[in-house]
Amino acid sequence: MATILDGKVLAASIRLKLREEAALLPRRPGIAVILVGDDPASQLYVKNKAKDCEECGFLSRRIDLPDTVSEEEILGILNKLNAETIYDGVLVQLPLPAHISEKRVIEAIAPEKDVDAFHPLNVGRMVRGDSVIWPCTPAGIGALLDAYDISADGKVCVMVGRSNIVGKPMGLLLLRRHGTVIYCHRHTPDLAAMTRQADILVVAAGQPRLISGSMVKPGATVIDVAMNRDAETGRFTGDVCFDEVSEKAAFITPVPGGVGPMTRAMLMQNVLTLAKLHMGLL
Ligand code: ADP
Repeated sequence: MATILDGKVLAASIRLKLREEAALLPRRPGIAVILVGDDPASQLYVKNKAKDCEECGFLSRRIDLPDTVSEEEILGILNKLNAETIYDGVLVQLPLPAHISEKRVIEAIAPEKDVDAFHPLNVGRMVRGDSVIWPCTPAGIGALLDAYDISADGKVCVMVGRSNIVGKPMGLLLLRRHGTVIYCHRHTPDLAAMTRQADILVVAAGQPRLISGSMVKPGATVIDVAMNRDAETGRFTGDVCFDEVSEKAAFITPVPGGVGPMTRAMLMQNVLTLAKLHMGLL
């Protein structure tokens, strides 16, 4: 039976540490979050972000905009937030309504306040291997691997999914940690042949039960990023058949309680890092 990688417990201890660190700073770290429309999932994410900020002793401001808002209005608000020194981080909750270009909005966030690390300048730094902050989900997985002393050095690391938010940067992070990285996606002809090679398997495809026990190498570390809502039970499941895979793997993340809480904790960590940068402390 695999060891469970407990993201919930680790995230709570990280928040405590961040609170202690923040209390020593000359001013509170701050973040401004823009939410467009009333998508329930996005509402919940933004609410959680405010709660996490409170727990860490950070300043947070939420800006709610109707889904009829124009792109120009959002860009105008971002311009103002970029200039306000009390906010170290500026975040626009994705996805945005179809009439707004996510690309243009992301590019309008000042790179030094881009707490999600989605701006092309920060993506470029990430590819080069010298970025200060990483997107929250890969950063959270990295912290989880560290906490359980799981090294990627010399290991075969297989990503299932190549999104800009999860799969792609996750592979870059593991490459930086000296892993041999393989990216799989919808066009991969024999997924099982790839996943069976993985010492570290990171799955972010949004496909329930995509990874069965027979697709996993004995002793592997299996990271399940997905949060799929089961229409019948309303419960969240990942992409990995947990019962089967936990019999073979050495380490596995639960869903929920694995990657999700770590992603949240890393947003707070990124706010603190940017705050320290702005205060000349890094
Ligand atoms: P996220 O934002 O969680 O990373 P996306 O929906 O943006 O998720 O991306 C899903 C990724 O998963 C894509 O890269 C896609 O190619 C990959 N994917 C989806 N289904 C499969 C599958 N059956 N086999 C392999 N890869 C898949």
